Amino acid sequence: MPGRFSIRDSLPQYTEEECADALFAAKWPDGFRCPRCAHSRPYEVSSRGRRLFECRSCSHQTSLTAGTVLEGTRTPLTKWFQAMYLMQYGISAVLLAEIIYVTYKTAWLINHKLRHAVGERDRVIPLEGSLQLLGEYYGYDYHRYFSDRLAHGELKPQPIVVGASLDETGDIVHLKMKAVDGPEGNAAPGSGDSEDEEAIELFVQKHTSAGVAPGQWEVLERSHRGRKAPHHAWREVVRWLAWTFGGIGPKHLQAYLNEFCFRRVRGSSMLAELIDCCGTTDTITYRGLVGARSGIRPIRWTFRRPARSKRYVG
Ligand SMILES: [Zn+2]
Repeated sequence: MPGRFSIRDSLPQYTEEECADALFAAKWPDGFRCPRCAHSRPYEVSSRGRRLFECRSCSHQTSLTAGTVLEGTRTPLTKWFQAMYLMQYGISAVLLAEIIYVTYKTAWLINHKLRHAVGERDRVIPLEGSLQLLGEYYGYDYHRYFSDRLAHGELKPQPIVVGASLDETGDIVHLKMKAVDGPEGNAAPGSGDSEDEEAIELFVQKHTSAGVAPGQWEVLERSHRGRKAPHHAWREVVRWLAWTFGGIGPKHLQAYLNEFCFRRVRGSSMLAELIDCCGTTDTITYRGLVGARSGIRPIRWTFRRPARSKRYVG
């Protein structure tokens, strides 16, 4: 449709070389370093069309993507970098596939690998300073598939703890949302309650810096009348998950929460930091992402329950 704004129009047209340089800088900020002997000078060699670095000291060969989240990919770097750029908009794999011309499965994998990189970065950066904490529940009630399972008791609302570091003006400078009992959550045995004192306490232990003392955090009430920054952030994430994906299932919820938190506080510096995360995080495999027996398919925005398939992944 002529004249209509398309996200494609704003898409940067990188060259493969520019992307390789950016990835190199993220992976080796102080210049090349041999992963085996730490020597700093390589020969650049080419093997079956791939650029390799061969250490001048020990002859170990390594590729640019080895040890990064892009390891083993056959997708051009330009598409990876466009996907990183597009993560600022929080788009679905369905849309990503259309925009960068890859299959749905490739788009899904790229997005999830980027989320993995973001999640790994988040893991090592604790919340600091003055904190506000909010216990919430993710209801899964936006998609018929999940709401049916909720109704049948196969699925329960997921307790989430939202934690925010605030500056003097009350703006969020760092944000985390963690599923209670989730893989990165609080792992409190028997705790199924996000407002539970114990759940909050465990969140503080696990996700805040050692310097945060009791009294430096404020526990907010849910649906508080004078809404604070974490309330707004929670509403935003729920809306994003509903509007963009039609809701997200339990398996991948944490990854989407991590992506949201990453984007929410970074603004215009997001892309640079995402490239950095990708260059310094080991990749995760498809199996690592979905488990051995799952498949990938898009969840479309539809309220009709498909007749047969039970395999859904976010
Ligand atoms: Zn070496």
